[in-house]
Amino acid sequence: MNKPDTRETILLSVNGMSCAGCVRTVEAALKDVPGVQIASVNFAGQTAAVTGETLASSLIRAVNDAGYDARLLGQNSIESQENEAVDLLRRSLFRSSLALAGGSLLMADMWFGLLPSFNMTIVWVAIGIATLACMLIAGGHFFRGALSAARHLSTNMDTLIVLGTGSAWIYSMVVILYPELLPIGSRHQFFEAALFVIGFVNLGKALEMNARSRASLAIQKLFDLTPRFVTLIDGDEERLVPVADVEPGQQLRIRPGENFPVDGFVVDGKSSADESLLTGESLAIPLVKGSGVSAGTLNIDGSLLVEAASVGEETRLAAIRRLVNEAQNSKPPVARLVDQITAVFVPVIILIAGLTFMTWWLVGPEPQLSFAFVTAMSVLIIACPCALGLAVPMSIMVGIGRAATNGLLIRNSEVLQVASTLDIVVLDKTGTLTMGEPEVNTIDGLNAQGLSIVLGLEQQSAHPVAKSIVSVCLGRHITAAEVSSITEYPGGGVVAEFLGDELVLGSLNFLKQRRISGVPEVERIGTVVALAVGSAYVGHFVLSDKVREGARETIQSLLALGVTPVMLTGDRSAIAEVVAEQVGITEIHAEVSPEKKLALIQAFQAAGHKVAMVGDGINDAAALSAADVGFAMGLGSDVALESADVTLRNGSLQGIEQMIRLSRKVLSNVRQNLVAAFGYNILLIPVAAGVLYPFFGLLINPAFAGLAMALSSVTVVFNAGRLRFS
Ligand code: ADP
Ligand code: MG
Repeated sequence: MNKPDTRETILLSVNGMSCAGCVRTVEAALKDVPGVQIASVNFAGQTAAVTGETLASSLIRAVNDAGYDARLLGQNSIESQENEAVDLLRRSLFRSSLALAGGSLLMADMWFGLLPSFNMTIVWVAIGIATLACMLIAGGHFFRGALSAARHLSTNMDTLIVLGTGSAWIYSMVVILYPELLPIGSRHQFFEAALFVIGFVNLGKALEMNARSRASLAIQKLFDLTPRFVTLIDGDEERLVPVADVEPGQQLRIRPGENFPVDGFVVDGKSSADESLLTGESLAIPLVKGSGVSAGTLNIDGSLLVEAASVGEETRLAAIRRLVNEAQNSKPPVARLVDQITAVFVPVIILIAGLTFMTWWLVGPEPQLSFAFVTAMSVLIIACPCALGLAVPMSIMVGIGRAATNGLLIRNSEVLQVASTLDIVVLDKTGTLTMGEPEVNTIDGLNAQGLSIVLGLEQQSAHPVAKSIVSVCLGRHITAAEVSSITEYPGGGVVAEFLGDELVLGSLNFLKQRRISGVPEVERIGTVVALAVGSAYVGHFVLSDKVREGARETIQSLLALGVTPVMLTGDRSAIAEVVAEQVGITEIHAEVSPEKKLALIQAFQAAGHKVAMVGDGINDAAALSAADVGFAMGLGSDVALESADVTLRNGSLQGIEQMIRLSRKVLSNVRQNLVAAFGYNILLIPVAAGVLYPFFGLLINPAFAGLAMALSSVTVVFNAGRLRFS
């Protein structure tokens, strides 16, 4: 999958968007800011992700000018966001109950015959004014939203609600003040209908908002692991300061049981760290003077003096949080389609409402005007595309959050959509199917001097075999030779110089390619790393690696999901076959160079397959980015976070299967939501327009339309919420 190059992405939280139509208004406003390349607004998360060279302040101003509220995301604490969410919920519930109570009161009075006839103009004018006040208090935000859309010559859900309820009120007032303008049979008032619509729509919004903020807060909490205050060493003094005030270079005292607030390194003290947040492995990592520590990880058992290196938004924890936030904000291809539809939706609905009105007025039964009015109003209300606007982002947000709690970091939601269609998973052997901690079984032909050359070479490499060889050499108290001009050939080995001789260290094939003489055949099964000095073979190591725990189970479940696992390795066929046998893979490609890995993936794609590549993220980078979905094992290297589509934070292969399962679930959830939202509109608009009236005498009451609309949003929100428990 193509990665966007790394430009800065600014995340904003946007308040006041009441519907999918607002998304377009805000997006357009953001795109108009000079320097902005991509602006994507997420209705479900109430956030905007903007990429480009620009200042957050100009973006915020642009959003404000468009009639919405914006602020930089992540600046306020989780508690304040939580409080805000509770406040918002309380306000919507209040609005909703106000309108519903008003509507019920009117309706009850009507039923019990408590209301006077329209001749009592004064009473009715008072009722009308009270209704208007109620509408404005409970639904003022709809009026403001419609107004700001109108100012930008656009329309949104608010437009529909305001047209529907506003005209209901005006019509009723005309009935009261100038009844002679209307035929006798059409003299009805619609005050309670207007109130019910506003009440129900607000109720739907309240429930929806509640689910939305819970979903987004759940994820933020996952990353809210840094303490608020920390002990700063200031000369001889220690004092408690807010973490936000810590600057790089300052020294901090971290006690046992505290989370590290910053990325930095140990200046003094001994302890161990639980880095499971970053690596997923809950091994205790020993910390001594000079060890690096990461924000959010836990200091287990010793008191430490730590010097801050990266703070706040610069830490790795913040980078991961941003990644998840951005992913939740990104739109999968299916969402773009929905956006296009919603863009034309509102004007089309207004047109349909107009046509409905005309038809009933011209050819409808008595009282024409009244029927025309009711049907047009129902069409306006029932067609509000708010369920449509929520259908995709709601599922994506819950899905990506769900993935994050499972240790899957997903780069963007397109990945989620693509992952649901995968049918081949290509797995690298070393470090992916195997633990990546090979054991050196044999050392052949290498004396202390040979080992010292090897050590000099391998110290510079991050390859798993290099790491094992280094630790064996160090265990034998070998000192590294001063080798120079080291070049690493991924998938082959390393080449360097030593005292005028060329050194070659790597696989037997690699040595042969570099025309080394006397390269032997090695019978023993295992990974072979051989050394040549000055074009002559010297000796070799044989290493063997343990198969990763759960690898066999993962391969079995991939097969059960209808996905073909394929093993790719730069290592020898002999060992590749042994590993393949152990985990249950039948298709293997051994002794392939990184270029060939890439070519194989492209060949699969050319044959129409959707291919995932799973690698350790360093020497498989090309293959990882060519694959439809690239999985990196663990957060070992920052490269993984940068280049992979999915990072398996917990370094467990099970994540691949989880990802595929989850993505399929999310996609079918999205489909259900779209059917619910669209189907509902498509089915109910004609009913609201009165198409069934001539046959069954069926008409939809505008108040019911408001309820149905609220129900459809609520359906979508709760359906998406189900993903949380999958
Ligand atoms: P895999 O595809 O299984 O991850 P690689 O493509 O990374 O394996 O490497 C293939 C082979 O090349 C290794 O088995 C090893 O023999 C050799 N090799 C690669 N890098 C190094 C290195 N840094 N030092 C020694 N040998 C290496
Ligand atoms: Mg590898």
